[in-house]
Amino acid sequence: RTPERIYPLRRNSKGLELGHQPHIDVLRGEMDRFRGPREPLNAIINGVDHRFVGETQPILNPSRLDQPVGEWRASGKAEVDAAMAAAKAAFPDWNARPVAERADILRHFADLMEEQMPHLIAVIAHEAGRTIDDGIAEVREAVDFCRYYANRAEELMVTQELPGPVGESNMYHLEGRGVWGAISPWNFPLAIFVGQVVAALVTGNTVVAKPAPQTPYIAWRAVELMLEAGVPSGAISLVLGAGETGAALVGHKDISGVVFTGSVPTAKAINRTLAEKDGPIVPLIAETGGINAMVVDSSALPEQVTDAVIASAFRSAGQRCSALRLLYVQDDVADDMIKMIKGAAEALAIGAPMDFGMDVGPLIDKDACERLETHWKEITQHGKVVYEGKSPVGGTFFAPRIVELDAPDRLQAEAFGPILHICRWKSKDLDKVMAAARGTGFGLTFGIHSRIEGQKQALAEMAPAGNVYINRNQVGAIVGVQPFGGHGLSGTGPKAGGPLYLTRFVEEKHVCEDT
Ligand code: GLU
Repeated sequence: RTPERIYPLRRNSKGLELGHQPHIDVLRGEMDRFRGPREPLNAIINGVDHRFVGETQPILNPSRLDQPVGEWRASGKAEVDAAMAAAKAAFPDWNARPVAERADILRHFADLMEEQMPHLIAVIAHEAGRTIDDGIAEVREAVDFCRYYANRAEELMVTQELPGPVGESNMYHLEGRGVWGAISPWNFPLAIFVGQVVAALVTGNTVVAKPAPQTPYIAWRAVELMLEAGVPSGAISLVLGAGETGAALVGHKDISGVVFTGSVPTAKAINRTLAEKDGPIVPLIAETGGINAMVVDSSALPEQVTDAVIASAFRSAGQRCSALRLLYVQDDVADDMIKMIKGAAEALAIGAPMDFGMDVGPLIDKDACERLETHWKEITQHGKVVYEGKSPVGGTFFAPRIVELDAPDRLQAEAFGPILHICRWKSKDLDKVMAAARGTGFGLTFGIHSRIEGQKQALAEMAPAGNVYINRNQVGAIVGVQPFGGHGLSGTGPKAGGPLYLTRFVEEKHVCEDT
Protein backbone atom coordinates (compact mmCIF):
# COMPACT_ATOMS: atom_id res chain seq x y z
CA ARG A 1 0.00 0.00 0.00
CA THR A 2 1.20 3.47 -0.83
CA PRO A 3 1.79 5.87 2.05
CA GLU A 4 -1.03 8.11 0.75
CA ARG A 5 -3.40 5.23 1.20
CA ILE A 6 -2.34 4.59 4.76
CA TYR A 7 -1.98 8.21 5.77
CA PRO A 8 -4.58 9.90 3.59
CA LEU A 9 -4.75 13.60 3.28
CA ARG A 10 -7.74 14.82 5.18
CA ARG A 11 -10.66 14.53 2.84
CA ASN A 12 -14.26 14.57 3.97
CA SER A 13 -17.23 13.34 1.99
CA LYS A 14 -18.81 15.20 -0.89
CA GLY A 15 -21.89 17.20 0.00
CA LEU A 16 -24.82 18.79 -1.76
CA GLU A 17 -25.00 22.53 -2.25
CA LEU A 18 -28.31 24.13 -1.37
CA GLY A 19 -27.41 27.24 -3.35
CA HIS A 20 -26.97 25.15 -6.51
CA GLN A 21 -30.16 24.58 -8.48
CA PRO A 22 -29.27 21.13 -9.96
CA HIS A 23 -28.65 19.81 -6.44
CA ILE A 24 -31.91 21.29 -5.19
CA ASP A 25 -33.75 19.66 -8.10
CA VAL A 26 -32.27 16.26 -7.29
CA LEU A 27 -33.26 16.61 -3.65
CA ARG A 28 -36.77 17.77 -4.49
CA GLY A 29 -37.19 14.83 -6.83
CA GLU A 30 -36.15 12.38 -4.09
CA MET A 31 -38.38 14.08 -1.57
CA ASP A 32 -41.41 13.88 -3.88
CA ARG A 33 -40.69 10.29 -4.89
CA PHE A 34 -40.16 9.14 -1.32
CA ARG A 35 -42.20 6.11 -0.28
CA GLY A 36 -41.70 4.35 3.03
CA PRO A 37 -41.26 0.58 3.25
CA ARG A 38 -44.12 -1.34 1.56
CA GLU A 39 -44.07 -4.14 4.14
CA PRO A 40 -43.63 -3.76 7.88
CA LEU A 41 -39.92 -3.76 8.75
CA ASN A 42 -38.56 -6.70 10.68
CA ALA A 43 -35.26 -7.86 12.06
CA ILE A 44 -32.55 -8.59 9.45
CA ILE A 45 -30.72 -11.75 10.51
CA ASN A 46 -28.24 -13.56 8.28
CA GLY A 47 -29.25 -11.28 5.45
CA VAL A 48 -32.85 -12.39 5.60
CA ASP A 49 -35.77 -10.18 6.49
CA HIS A 50 -37.20 -12.16 9.38
CA ARG A 51 -40.94 -12.15 9.41
CA PHE A 52 -41.60 -13.01 13.00
CA VAL A 53 -45.22 -12.62 13.81
CA GLY A 54 -46.12 -9.85 16.15
CA GLU A 55 -47.98 -6.62 16.25
CA THR A 56 -46.97 -3.90 13.88
CA GLN A 57 -46.39 -0.33 14.97
CA PRO A 58 -46.32 2.82 12.86
CA ILE A 59 -43.16 4.65 11.86
CA LEU A 60 -44.33 8.23 12.24
CA ASN A 61 -43.36 11.28 10.28
CA PRO A 62 -42.92 13.82 13.09
CA SER A 63 -43.76 16.72 10.77
CA ARG A 64 -46.99 15.15 9.52
CA LEU A 65 -48.47 12.88 12.10
CA ASP A 66 -51.35 11.95 9.79
CA GLN A 67 -48.94 10.55 7.15
CA PRO A 68 -46.99 7.66 8.70
CA VAL A 69 -43.84 6.54 6.87
CA GLY A 70 -44.55 2.83 7.32
CA GLU A 71 -44.70 0.11 9.92
CA TRP A 72 -42.30 -2.06 11.90
CA ARG A 73 -42.33 -5.01 14.26
CA ALA A 74 -40.40 -5.24 17.49
CA SER A 75 -37.92 -8.09 17.79
CA GLY A 76 -38.22 -10.30 20.85
CA LYS A 77 -35.82 -12.60 22.62
CA ALA A 78 -36.07 -15.24 19.86
CA GLU A 79 -34.84 -12.79 17.22
CA VAL A 80 -32.07 -11.46 19.47
CA ASP A 81 -30.94 -15.06 20.10
CA ALA A 82 -30.97 -15.83 16.37
CA ALA A 83 -29.02 -12.66 15.56
CA MET A 84 -26.47 -13.37 18.28
CA ALA A 85 -26.02 -16.94 17.02
CA ALA A 86 -25.43 -15.65 13.47
CA ALA A 87 -22.90 -13.09 14.71
CA LYS A 88 -21.08 -15.62 16.85
CA ALA A 89 -20.79 -18.03 13.93
CA ALA A 90 -19.57 -15.32 11.55
CA PHE A 91 -16.93 -13.92 13.92
CA PRO A 92 -13.94 -16.27 13.39
CA ASP A 93 -13.87 -15.89 9.62
CA TRP A 94 -14.47 -12.13 9.61
CA ASN A 95 -11.85 -11.54 12.33
CA ALA A 96 -9.31 -13.65 10.44
CA ARG A 97 -9.60 -11.67 7.22
CA PRO A 98 -6.85 -9.16 6.46
CA VAL A 99 -7.78 -5.74 7.79
CA ALA A 100 -7.42 -4.28 4.28
CA GLU A 101 -10.23 -6.54 3.06
CA ARG A 102 -12.60 -5.41 5.80
CA ALA A 103 -11.56 -1.79 5.27
CA ASP A 104 -12.22 -2.01 1.52
CA ILE A 105 -15.71 -3.44 2.06
CA LEU A 106 -16.56 -0.59 4.42
CA ARG A 107 -15.15 1.98 1.99
CA HIS A 108 -17.42 0.46 -0.63
CA PHE A 109 -20.33 0.91 1.79
CA ALA A 110 -19.30 4.57 2.16
CA ASP A 111 -19.30 5.01 -1.62
CA LEU A 112 -22.81 3.54 -1.84
CA MET A 113 -24.08 5.95 0.81
CA GLU A 114 -22.41 8.87 -0.95
CA GLU A 115 -24.04 7.86 -4.25
CA GLN A 116 -27.44 7.57 -2.60
CA MET A 117 -27.12 10.72 -0.52
CA PRO A 118 -30.33 12.39 -1.78
CA HIS A 119 -32.40 9.28 -1.07
CA LEU A 120 -30.92 8.87 2.42
CA ILE A 121 -31.61 12.56 3.15
CA ALA A 122 -35.24 12.01 2.15
CA VAL A 123 -35.53 9.04 4.52
CA ILE A 124 -34.03 11.01 7.41
CA ALA A 125 -36.29 14.02 6.71
CA HIS A 126 -39.44 11.88 6.72
CA GLU A 127 -38.65 9.53 9.55
CA ALA A 128 -36.60 11.72 11.91
CA GLY A 129 -37.80 15.22 10.93
CA ARG A 130 -34.26 16.38 10.21
CA THR A 131 -33.87 19.45 8.02
CA ILE A 132 -32.20 19.18 4.63
CA ASP A 133 -29.04 20.86 5.96
CA ASP A 134 -28.90 18.43 8.84
CA GLY A 135 -29.56 15.53 6.47
CA ILE A 136 -26.66 16.49 4.21
CA ALA A 137 -24.33 16.84 7.20
CA GLU A 138 -25.52 13.55 8.61
CA VAL A 139 -24.95 11.45 5.49
CA ARG A 140 -21.54 13.05 5.08
CA GLU A 141 -20.68 12.18 8.67
CA ALA A 142 -21.72 8.56 8.13
CA VAL A 143 -19.52 8.37 5.02
CA ASP A 144 -16.64 10.02 6.87
CA PHE A 145 -16.88 7.56 9.76
CA CYS A 146 -16.47 4.64 7.33
CA ARG A 147 -13.46 6.10 5.56
CA TYR A 148 -11.79 7.39 8.71
CA TYR A 149 -12.19 4.14 10.63
CA ALA A 150 -11.15 2.06 7.61
CA ASN A 151 -7.94 4.07 7.29
CA ARG A 152 -7.33 4.07 11.02
CA ALA A 153 -7.83 0.30 11.30
CA GLU A 154 -5.24 -0.22 8.58
CA GLU A 155 -2.79 1.88 10.57
CA LEU A 156 -3.48 0.15 13.88
CA MET A 157 -4.01 -3.46 12.95
CA VAL A 158 -0.54 -4.31 11.71
CA THR A 159 1.55 -6.88 13.50
CA GLN A 160 4.51 -5.20 15.11
CA GLU A 161 7.78 -6.76 16.06
CA LEU A 162 8.83 -5.19 19.36
CA PRO A 163 12.50 -4.73 20.17
CA GLY A 164 13.64 -7.27 22.77
CA PRO A 165 16.71 -9.20 23.81
CA VAL A 166 18.69 -11.16 21.26
CA GLY A 167 17.35 -14.69 20.84
CA GLU A 168 13.74 -13.71 21.42
CA SER A 169 10.93 -12.66 19.08
CA ASN A 170 8.19 -10.35 20.43
CA MET A 171 5.17 -9.94 18.20
CA TYR A 172 2.24 -7.70 19.05
CA HIS A 173 -1.07 -7.21 17.28
CA LEU A 174 -4.72 -6.25 17.72
CA GLU A 175 -7.77 -8.34 16.91
CA GLY A 176 -11.54 -8.23 17.27
CA ARG A 177 -13.14 -9.10 20.61
CA GLY A 178 -16.23 -10.96 19.39
CA VAL A 179 -19.86 -9.91 19.06
CA TRP A 180 -20.76 -6.28 19.83
CA GLY A 181 -24.19 -4.94 20.63
CA ALA A 182 -24.66 -1.47 19.09
CA ILE A 183 -27.51 0.64 20.48
CA SER A 184 -28.03 3.95 18.73
CA PRO A 185 -30.29 7.01 19.12
CA TRP A 186 -32.84 8.70 16.86
CA ASN A 187 -31.16 12.12 16.82
CA PHE A 188 -28.42 11.01 14.40
CA PRO A 189 -30.24 7.95 13.11
CA LEU A 190 -27.75 7.27 10.31
CA ALA A 191 -24.40 8.76 11.40
CA ILE A 192 -24.26 7.37 14.93
CA PHE A 193 -25.73 4.03 13.85
CA VAL A 194 -23.10 3.70 11.11
CA GLY A 195 -20.24 5.01 13.28
CA GLN A 196 -20.84 2.42 15.98
CA VAL A 197 -21.35 -0.50 13.60
CA VAL A 198 -18.44 0.30 11.30
CA ALA A 199 -15.97 0.80 14.17
CA ALA A 200 -16.84 -2.66 15.46
CA LEU A 201 -16.84 -4.32 12.04
CA VAL A 202 -13.61 -2.90 10.68
CA THR A 203 -11.70 -4.10 13.73
CA GLY A 204 -12.87 -7.69 13.14
CA ASN A 205 -15.92 -7.87 15.38
CA THR A 206 -19.39 -8.90 14.32
CA VAL A 207 -22.41 -6.85 15.32
CA VAL A 208 -26.02 -7.03 16.37
CA ALA A 209 -27.38 -3.49 16.08
CA LYS A 210 -30.52 -2.02 17.59
CA PRO A 211 -31.52 1.43 16.36
CA ALA A 212 -33.96 3.66 18.24
CA PRO A 213 -37.61 2.59 17.83
CA GLN A 214 -38.49 5.97 16.25
CA THR A 215 -36.05 5.54 13.35
CA PRO A 216 -35.87 1.93 12.15
CA TYR A 217 -36.10 2.63 8.42
CA ILE A 218 -32.84 4.53 7.88
CA ALA A 219 -30.98 1.85 9.88
CA TRP A 220 -32.67 -0.83 7.78
CA ARG A 221 -31.53 0.89 4.56
CA ALA A 222 -28.00 1.20 5.94
CA VAL A 223 -27.84 -2.52 6.69
CA GLU A 224 -29.09 -3.30 3.18
CA LEU A 225 -26.26 -1.18 1.77
CA MET A 226 -23.68 -2.82 4.05
CA LEU A 227 -24.75 -6.23 2.79
CA GLU A 228 -24.63 -4.97 -0.79
CA ALA A 229 -21.10 -3.68 -0.16
CA GLY A 230 -19.97 -7.14 0.88
CA VAL A 231 -20.27 -7.31 4.66
CA PRO A 232 -20.99 -11.01 5.31
CA SER A 233 -24.61 -11.53 6.26
CA GLY A 234 -23.81 -13.05 9.66
CA ALA A 235 -21.52 -10.18 10.56
CA ILE A 236 -24.25 -7.54 10.77
CA SER A 237 -27.75 -8.20 12.07
CA LEU A 238 -30.44 -5.69 12.85
CA VAL A 239 -32.96 -6.12 15.62
CA LEU A 240 -35.75 -3.61 16.14
CA GLY A 241 -37.37 -2.47 19.34
CA ALA A 242 -37.20 -0.33 22.44
CA GLY A 243 -35.86 -1.03 25.92
CA GLU A 244 -36.92 -4.68 26.11
CA THR A 245 -35.10 -5.63 22.93
CA GLY A 246 -32.06 -3.69 24.11
CA ALA A 247 -32.12 -5.48 27.45
CA ALA A 248 -32.27 -8.89 25.72
CA LEU A 249 -29.25 -7.88 23.62
CA VAL A 250 -27.16 -6.48 26.47
CA GLY A 251 -28.05 -9.39 28.74
CA HIS A 252 -27.11 -12.02 26.17
CA LYS A 253 -24.43 -14.41 27.36
CA ASP A 254 -22.37 -14.17 24.17
CA ILE A 255 -22.01 -10.40 24.00
CA SER A 256 -18.35 -9.23 24.04
CA GLY A 257 -18.89 -5.46 24.10
CA VAL A 258 -21.61 -2.82 23.99
CA VAL A 259 -21.46 0.55 22.28
CA PHE A 260 -24.28 2.88 23.24
CA THR A 261 -25.38 6.46 22.64
CA GLY A 262 -28.35 7.74 24.65
CA SER A 263 -29.31 8.78 28.15
CA VAL A 264 -27.27 8.54 31.34
CA PRO A 265 -29.79 6.30 33.18
CA THR A 266 -29.79 3.82 30.28
CA ALA A 267 -25.98 3.84 30.11
CA LYS A 268 -25.84 3.07 33.81
CA ALA A 269 -28.46 0.34 33.50
CA ILE A 270 -26.45 -1.29 30.69
CA ASN A 271 -23.31 -1.06 32.80
CA ARG A 272 -25.07 -2.78 35.72
CA THR A 273 -26.39 -5.57 33.50
CA LEU A 274 -22.95 -6.18 32.03
CA ALA A 275 -21.31 -6.15 35.47
CA GLU A 276 -23.74 -8.64 36.93
CA LYS A 277 -23.58 -11.16 34.10
CA ASP A 278 -21.74 -14.43 34.38
CA GLY A 279 -18.70 -14.83 32.20
CA PRO A 280 -16.06 -12.35 31.06
CA ILE A 281 -15.89 -8.66 31.95
CA VAL A 282 -17.63 -6.90 29.08
CA PRO A 283 -16.63 -3.34 28.09
CA LEU A 284 -19.13 -0.54 27.52
CA ILE A 285 -18.55 2.53 25.38
CA ALA A 286 -21.22 5.07 26.29
CA GLU A 287 -21.84 8.50 24.86
CA THR A 288 -24.56 10.39 26.72
CA GLY A 289 -25.70 13.98 27.11
CA GLY A 290 -24.60 17.31 28.42
CA ILE A 291 -25.70 20.57 29.98
CA ASN A 292 -23.49 22.48 27.59
CA ALA A 293 -22.52 26.04 28.40
CA MET A 294 -21.11 29.01 26.49
CA VAL A 295 -19.35 31.92 28.16
CA VAL A 296 -19.47 35.28 26.39
CA ASP A 297 -17.45 38.22 27.67
CA SER A 298 -17.84 41.89 26.80
CA SER A 299 -15.04 41.80 24.20
CA ALA A 300 -16.88 39.24 22.03
CA LEU A 301 -18.18 40.13 18.56
CA PRO A 302 -21.98 40.39 18.87
CA GLU A 303 -22.80 39.12 15.35
CA GLN A 304 -20.48 36.16 15.75
CA VAL A 305 -22.02 35.33 19.12
CA THR A 306 -25.54 35.56 17.70
CA ASP A 307 -24.80 33.20 14.82
CA ALA A 308 -23.03 30.76 17.11
CA VAL A 309 -25.83 30.77 19.70
CA ILE A 310 -28.59 30.27 17.13
CA ALA A 311 -26.75 27.37 15.46
CA SER A 312 -25.72 25.75 18.73
CA ALA A 313 -29.03 26.05 20.56
CA PHE A 314 -31.63 25.69 17.81
CA ARG A 315 -30.13 23.79 14.88
CA SER A 316 -31.56 20.23 14.76
CA ALA A 317 -34.27 21.66 17.03
CA GLY A 318 -31.73 21.47 19.84
CA GLN A 319 -31.81 17.69 19.64
CA ARG A 320 -28.07 17.18 19.82
CA CYS A 321 -26.02 16.05 22.79
CA SER A 322 -23.64 18.85 21.90
CA ALA A 323 -26.29 21.59 21.79
CA LEU A 324 -25.95 24.79 23.78
CA ARG A 325 -28.27 24.85 26.81
CA LEU A 326 -26.82 27.53 29.05
CA LEU A 327 -25.49 30.85 27.82
CA TYR A 328 -23.52 32.98 30.28
CA VAL A 329 -23.25 36.59 29.09
CA GLN A 330 -21.21 39.33 30.77
CA ASP A 331 -23.69 41.82 32.17
CA ASP A 332 -22.48 45.01 30.47
CA VAL A 333 -23.25 43.59 27.01
CA ALA A 334 -26.13 41.33 28.02
CA ASP A 335 -29.05 43.58 27.07
CA ASP A 336 -27.78 44.14 23.53
CA MET A 337 -26.74 40.54 23.06
CA ILE A 338 -30.07 39.16 24.25
CA LYS A 339 -31.90 41.52 21.93
CA MET A 340 -29.88 40.33 18.94
CA ILE A 341 -30.32 36.67 19.81
CA LYS A 342 -34.04 37.14 20.26
CA GLY A 343 -34.26 38.91 16.89
CA ALA A 344 -32.39 36.08 15.18
CA ALA A 345 -34.60 33.46 16.85
CA GLU A 346 -37.70 35.27 15.58
CA ALA A 347 -36.35 35.01 12.03
CA LEU A 348 -35.99 31.20 12.09
CA ALA A 349 -38.23 29.23 9.72
CA ILE A 350 -39.89 26.36 11.56
CA GLY A 351 -41.65 23.63 9.66
CA ALA A 352 -41.60 20.32 7.79
CA PRO A 353 -38.14 19.61 6.30
CA MET A 354 -39.83 18.29 3.13
CA ASP A 355 -40.96 21.86 2.44
CA PHE A 356 -37.30 22.93 2.09
CA GLY A 357 -35.83 26.13 3.48
CA MET A 358 -36.57 25.23 7.09
CA ASP A 359 -34.13 26.07 9.86
CA VAL A 360 -35.87 24.10 12.59
CA GLY A 361 -37.79 20.86 12.12
CA PRO A 362 -40.05 19.05 14.59
CA LEU A 363 -39.13 17.26 17.79
CA ILE A 364 -38.93 13.51 17.44
CA ASP A 365 -42.29 12.69 19.08
CA LYS A 366 -45.08 13.79 21.40
CA ASP A 367 -43.28 12.57 24.49
CA ALA A 368 -40.38 14.87 23.67
CA CYS A 369 -42.79 17.82 23.43
CA GLU A 370 -44.37 16.93 26.75
CA ARG A 371 -41.03 16.61 28.50
CA LEU A 372 -39.98 20.03 27.25
CA GLU A 373 -43.31 21.63 28.24
CA THR A 374 -42.89 20.26 31.76
CA HIS A 375 -39.33 21.55 31.91
CA TRP A 376 -40.44 24.98 30.63
CA LYS A 377 -43.13 25.27 33.29
CA GLU A 378 -40.65 24.48 36.03
CA ILE A 379 -37.69 26.51 34.83
CA THR A 380 -39.63 29.68 34.03
CA GLN A 381 -40.53 29.91 37.71
CA HIS A 382 -36.89 30.79 38.27
CA GLY A 383 -36.50 33.32 35.53
CA LYS A 384 -37.93 35.65 32.99
CA VAL A 385 -39.33 34.52 29.65
CA VAL A 386 -37.38 36.25 26.86
CA TYR A 387 -38.91 34.59 23.84
CA GLU A 388 -41.49 31.95 23.07
CA GLY A 389 -41.80 31.10 19.36
CA LYS A 390 -45.03 30.00 17.74
CA SER A 391 -45.12 26.31 16.82
CA PRO A 392 -46.76 25.17 13.56
CA VAL A 393 -49.50 22.55 13.85
CA GLY A 394 -49.77 19.07 12.33
CA GLY A 395 -46.55 17.69 13.77
CA THR A 396 -44.54 17.55 16.95
CA PHE A 397 -43.20 21.07 16.50
CA PHE A 398 -41.77 23.04 19.37
CA ALA A 399 -40.59 26.49 18.36
CA PRO A 400 -37.47 27.89 20.05
CA ARG A 401 -37.82 29.45 23.48
CA ILE A 402 -35.47 31.55 25.57
CA VAL A 403 -35.52 32.14 29.32
CA GLU A 404 -33.24 34.26 31.48
CA LEU A 405 -32.42 32.51 34.75
CA ASP A 406 -31.80 34.06 38.13
CA ALA A 407 -28.78 31.95 39.15
CA PRO A 408 -25.85 30.35 37.29
CA ASP A 409 -26.48 26.91 38.76
CA ARG A 410 -30.25 26.84 38.25
CA LEU A 411 -30.27 24.40 35.33
CA GLN A 412 -29.49 20.90 36.58
CA ALA A 413 -31.15 18.64 34.02
CA GLU A 414 -30.61 18.28 30.30
CA ALA A 415 -33.62 19.64 28.37
CA PHE A 416 -33.25 17.96 24.99
CA GLY A 417 -34.70 20.51 22.61
CA PRO A 418 -34.69 24.15 21.48
CA ILE A 419 -34.79 25.91 24.85
CA LEU A 420 -31.98 28.35 25.54
CA HIS A 421 -31.26 29.36 29.13
CA ILE A 422 -29.37 32.60 29.64
CA CYS A 423 -27.66 33.91 32.73
CA ARG A 424 -25.74 37.17 33.22
CA TRP A 425 -22.41 37.37 35.02
CA LYS A 426 -20.28 40.14 36.47
CA SER A 427 -16.50 40.05 36.12
CA LYS A 428 -15.98 39.20 39.78
CA ASP A 429 -18.30 36.19 39.42
CA LEU A 430 -16.60 34.37 36.56
CA ASP A 431 -15.30 31.73 38.94
CA LYS A 432 -18.85 31.07 40.10
CA VAL A 433 -19.97 30.64 36.52
CA MET A 434 -17.21 28.13 35.82
CA ALA A 435 -17.98 26.31 39.08
CA ALA A 436 -21.65 26.12 38.06
CA ALA A 437 -20.70 24.69 34.66
CA ARG A 438 -18.51 22.11 36.34
CA GLY A 439 -21.12 21.39 38.99
CA THR A 440 -23.54 19.74 36.61
CA GLY A 441 -21.25 16.72 36.39
CA PHE A 442 -21.55 16.65 32.61
CA GLY A 443 -18.68 17.59 30.34
CA LEU A 444 -19.45 17.46 26.65
CA THR A 445 -19.17 20.76 24.76
CA PHE A 446 -18.21 24.24 25.93
CA GLY A 447 -18.26 27.51 23.99
CA ILE A 448 -16.11 30.58 24.60
CA HIS A 449 -16.55 33.97 22.96
CA SER A 450 -13.86 36.51 23.74
CA ARG A 451 -11.22 38.53 21.95
CA ILE A 452 -8.93 38.68 24.97
CA GLU A 453 -6.15 36.18 24.39
CA GLY A 454 -5.45 35.41 28.06
CA GLN A 455 -9.15 35.03 28.88
CA LYS A 456 -9.75 32.61 25.98
CA GLN A 457 -6.86 30.42 26.97
CA ALA A 458 -7.71 30.44 30.69
CA LEU A 459 -11.34 29.55 30.03
CA ALA A 460 -10.39 26.80 27.58
CA GLU A 461 -8.10 25.26 30.18
CA MET A 462 -10.75 25.43 32.90
CA ALA A 463 -13.61 24.29 30.66
CA PRO A 464 -15.11 21.08 32.02
CA ALA A 465 -15.69 19.52 28.60
CA GLY A 466 -14.35 17.10 26.04
CA ASN A 467 -14.95 19.56 23.18
CA VAL A 468 -14.20 23.26 23.54
CA TYR A 469 -15.08 25.71 20.77
CA ILE A 470 -13.77 29.28 20.71
CA ASN A 471 -15.45 32.11 18.78
CA ARG A 472 -17.69 29.80 16.74
CA ASN A 473 -20.67 27.48 17.28
CA GLN A 474 -20.28 24.35 19.37
CA VAL A 475 -22.09 21.70 17.32
CA GLY A 476 -21.37 19.60 14.26
CA ALA A 477 -18.04 17.99 15.10
CA ILE A 478 -16.31 16.76 11.94
CA VAL A 479 -14.93 13.23 11.81
CA GLY A 480 -11.14 13.17 12.10
CA VAL A 481 -11.02 16.92 12.71
CA GLN A 482 -12.95 17.45 15.94
CA PRO A 483 -12.97 14.05 17.69
CA PHE A 484 -16.22 14.08 19.64
CA GLY A 485 -17.03 12.92 23.17
CA GLY A 486 -17.11 14.11 26.75
CA HIS A 487 -16.16 13.51 30.33
CA GLY A 488 -17.99 12.65 33.55
CA LEU A 489 -21.71 12.08 33.08
CA SER A 490 -21.29 12.73 29.34
CA GLY A 491 -19.70 9.39 28.58
CA THR A 492 -16.90 6.90 28.92
CA GLY A 493 -14.87 7.98 25.88
CA PRO A 494 -13.12 7.25 23.59
CA LYS A 495 -14.02 10.07 21.22
CA ALA A 496 -16.01 9.19 18.11
CA GLY A 497 -14.18 10.13 14.92
CA GLY A 498 -10.93 10.35 16.88
CA PRO A 499 -7.65 8.45 16.71
CA LEU A 500 -8.30 6.27 19.77
CA TYR A 501 -11.90 5.22 19.09
CA LEU A 502 -11.07 1.86 17.55
CA THR A 503 -8.67 0.90 20.32
CA ARG A 504 -11.59 0.16 22.64
CA PHE A 505 -13.10 -2.34 20.20
CA VAL A 506 -10.08 -4.66 20.09
CA GLU A 507 -8.11 -7.11 22.14
CA GLU A 508 -4.34 -6.90 22.26
CA LYS A 509 -2.26 -9.99 21.79
CA HIS A 510 1.43 -10.57 22.27
CA VAL A 511 3.45 -13.63 21.34
CA CYS A 512 6.92 -14.04 22.77
CA GLU A 513 9.13 -16.83 21.42
CA ASP A 514 12.57 -17.98 22.41
CA THR A 515 14.29 -18.32 19.07
N1 GLU B 1 -21.50 14.89 17.05
C1 GLU B 1 -22.63 15.76 17.12
C2 GLU B 1 -22.21 17.19 17.16
O1 GLU B 1 -21.05 17.49 17.23
C3 GLU B 1 -23.53 15.44 18.28
C4 GLU B 1 -23.83 14.00 18.43
C5 GLU B 1 -24.99 13.71 19.35
O2 GLU B 1 -25.89 14.54 19.50
O3 GLU B 1 -25.00 12.59 19.88
O4 GLU B 1 -23.07 18.04 17.14
